[in-house]
Amino acid sequence: MLPQDLLAGLRALLPAGAVLSRPEELLVYDCDAYTIEKAAPLAVVLPTSTEEVAAVARFAHQHGLPLVPRGAGTGLSGGCLAHDGGIMLALTRMTKVLEVDLANRRAVVEAGLVNARLTEAVARDGYAFAPDPSSQSACTIGGNVAENAGGPHTLKYGVTVNHVLALEVVLPDGEVVWLGDRTEDAPGYDLLGLMVGSEGTFGIVTKAVVRLVPQPEAVRTLLAIFPSVADASNAVSALIGAGIVPAALEMMDALILQAVEAAFQYGFPLDAGAVLIIELDGLEAGLDAQKDQVLRLCHEHLATEVRVAKDAADRARLWLARKKAVGAVGRLSPSKITMDGVIPRTRLPEVLAAISEIGARYGLRIANVFHAGDGNLHPVILFDERDPAQVQTVLEAGGEILKACLAVGGSITGEHGVGVEKSAFMHLQFTAADLAAMASLREVFNPDGRLNPGKLLPVHRGCAELPRRFKGAAT
Ligand SMILES: Cc1cc2nc3c(=O)[nH]c(=O)nc-3n(C[C@H](O)[C@H](O)[C@H](O)COP(=O)(O)OP(=O)(O)OC[C@H]3O[C@@H](n4cnc5c(N)ncnc54)[C@H](O)[C@@H]3O)c2cc1C
Repeated sequence: MLPQDLLAGLRALLPAGAVLSRPEELLVYDCDAYTIEKAAPLAVVLPTSTEEVAAVARFAHQHGLPLVPRGAGTGLSGGCLAHDGGIMLALTRMTKVLEVDLANRRAVVEAGLVNARLTEAVARDGYAFAPDPSSQSACTIGGNVAENAGGPHTLKYGVTVNHVLALEVVLPDGEVVWLGDRTEDAPGYDLLGLMVGSEGTFGIVTKAVVRLVPQPEAVRTLLAIFPSVADASNAVSALIGAGIVPAALEMMDALILQAVEAAFQYGFPLDAGAVLIIELDGLEAGLDAQKDQVLRLCHEHLATEVRVAKDAADRARLWLARKKAVGAVGRLSPSKITMDGVIPRTRLPEVLAAISEIGARYGLRIANVFHAGDGNLHPVILFDERDPAQVQTVLEAGGEILKACLAVGGSITGEHGVGVEKSAFMHLQFTAADLAAMASLREVFNPDGRLNPGKLLPVHRGCAELPRRFKGAAT
């Protein structure tokens, strides 16, 4: 807990009920969705305005306390873990849509707004906020900005950085700045681009000016069923190679299908090796011709059946099952870790085979549900976190999976961020000079390293190597 005098000072800055400090309250904030590493902050503050965020940041600066920004805590890499203690700034009470400007296709929102609420606010007018992480019913726009989140539809529409025009940011010393501009091309250095994806290590995002996109005139959603993951992977390469740009191209393997079918009874084939969800959107004219091309290519690549969603309700049920797939895995095991690697999509068959071999060698079940069109893998490793031996096995297997991605020219993360989970692997992807340049950049925004310490970069002042990380980074 924070010493009583500091706690009193913090409480004086905020309305009653906005500072949590009892151990049972702090427990709720001791991890994100990367649950195998836990550390509670000394206090959690729940501000409702930029002024309150800035006051807390000034207070932390004055007293040399670590400050950890947090949205909904759906992150999958331990990005908002408070392993150095300090104050956690949870933005979940800053949820307003401040302005909708349809003529200019943009909105101004507070950072704690839940992603799906923004599209809900503009859907009646035919617009949407394009980044749609599968966690969108819970995660916040601030968290999306910090992680540069993607989602099923970012294959066609781009990730968060493509949809943010400007940000209001509180720097670690409490200064409030605006980065970016409401116009499309602001002159000068792209500080906005730097902020997006900085995993809460450069500043605390309090407001965002975001782009709104018109909803497509027409949509076709297909479920293609394949005997094996390799066949489905070959179909992915064929579709993209044919010049088709689906709005979404998602894969679920046999183990994931078991979990989602048990949870949602959609009618997924339980004897399939894998399925692809392929969504096409755009103008009505020409969309059926594209759908026919997709059907032909899927059948050429050994699809046993391709179903087309009957109507909007059928499509919604299919997407619900896909977006809740990782949660449904809770039916298969007490714990899971959702990994995140990227590979060239033409290498999908061999890397998925390597993941399967790693699982067999370590005696672990690994399910796969992922954004296949982007080559963005999400192996979900099933285990029981109450057994320390299993945790060690998972971390070793996880390390091997990351290396398998790097071996084919991929990356250790696509959209979930590095966080604490993968910081020890950064040196396998980047040179010492690259990492030193990143550390210098962080110092510009966060000179004493107090803002979200120990995230993203492998070296951090005052932070010892934590025990529960993927193993094997040294080799
Ligand atoms: C079931 C499930 C499915 C998911 N699917 C996807 C997916 O399809 N695509 C995808 O990209 N991700 C996905 N994620 C991961 C996660 O939801 C995203 O990373 C999301 O953007 C995190 O938002 P959050 O509000 O929960 O942030 P948190 O988890 O609270 O924080 C994440 C990081 O952002 C920082 N942060 C949060 N708010 C701010 C702020 N206002 N200012 C500065 N830094 C801040 C934190 O310090 C931390 O480093 C999924 C997660 C789950 C559990």
